[in-house]
Amino acid sequence: MIPYGKQEISESDIDAVISVLRSDFLTQGPKVPEFERALSAYTGAKHTIVLNSATSALHISCLALGLSSSDWLWTSPISFVASANCALYCGAKVDFVDIDPVTFNMSPYALEKKLAEAKALGKLPKVVIPVHLSGRPCDMKTIYRLSKEYGFSIIEDASHAIGAKYLGEPVGTCRYSDITIFSFHPVKIITTAEGGAALTNSKAIATKLELLRSHGITRDESMMTEDSHGSWYYQQIDLGFNFRMTELQAALGINQMARVDEFVLKRNVLAERYDSLLNGLPVTTSPLSDEVYSSFHLYILKLNNARVTRREIFDRLRSNGIGVNVHYIPIHLQPYYRRLGFSTGDFPFSEDYYRNAISIPLFSGMTFEEQDLVVSALARALEE
Ligand SMILES: *Cc1c(COP(=O)(O)O)cnc(C)c1O
Repeated sequence: MIPYGKQEISESDIDAVISVLRSDFLTQGPKVPEFERALSAYTGAKHTIVLNSATSALHISCLALGLSSSDWLWTSPISFVASANCALYCGAKVDFVDIDPVTFNMSPYALEKKLAEAKALGKLPKVVIPVHLSGRPCDMKTIYRLSKEYGFSIIEDASHAIGAKYLGEPVGTCRYSDITIFSFHPVKIITTAEGGAALTNSKAIATKLELLRSHGITRDESMMTEDSHGSWYYQQIDLGFNFRMTELQAALGINQMARVDEFVLKRNVLAERYDSLLNGLPVTTSPLSDEVYSSFHLYILKLNNARVTRREIFDRLRSNGIGVNVHYIPIHLQPYYRRLGFSTGDFPFSEDYYRNAISIPLFSGMTFEEQDLVVSALARALEE
């Protein structure tokens, strides 16, 4: 089976992890801050907090922005469920903004329209989470302008998008957001097995994220309510979690970071090759504008062959050893979200996208031969 995504682990990655096993620290040692410095240096964000997952990063980012039970959080229906669940962890309410049918990202027009309506109803969101689907950056300039006009905070869910660029700058600069999130799950661009990061330019947000990552405990005397009792002393000043990343993961992450541009370049070469190989087949791809450089976490197609269903094409490809997938089932149509009151018809462009979308294999270690196999299997599957 050619998988839809796959990590690339080098001998030097393996050596880096083994050397941590031989060292004094398996957790809370020097590798975590070293990985954080590498991510800040790469993106230009002032502060990076690495965590045990992007889900944890989204959760404590919402808390750090003060999201609570009276608040609304808006995101895209076409994302992994974690992009919306983070609001519910904080007791807040979730709503969605429909996608743009060309970019598959949150539509800035739909956002603007919904904000005007929400303002009239007194239901403006406190936080909006644009998701850079497949590694293609959202229209952040417009979303940022709207955030100033309507007074909401922005968390970029860049789980797919480390290595991508927006207007020539790396995703993660946080120029147009309060916080940016990365995921290091093995199918994403670089991996730490499980892992994630939150990046910000705000010292206050970074301090809060650090506290929440580790039980709400501080050893910084300036944050304590009384003088230190001695060098063993710490105080719990907030209710946090254990969302820490291990030294083993950070060592792997540091090594992987050294190859992020190479991984993304290989993905771009493969994606361009797909673009030309798929020419003439009854499929629609999503053209990129000059404003963005995608990290191509995914290569998504929309099938426009009316006579063969997506399900039939999917099954034909899978039975031919092509590990296709679907990203994503609209979050609002999940049973859990339907129980919150969402239903079919709420976000028509997202639902239309879901009916026809398919992700074909793309990963940095993919060969041209594997890619040719995918394209010929797809061409056959599309025949009636
Ligand atoms: C993978 C993913 C997440 C969650 O990442 P984890 O590191 O697995 O917690 C969140 N949002 C999106 C869009 C993702 O693809």
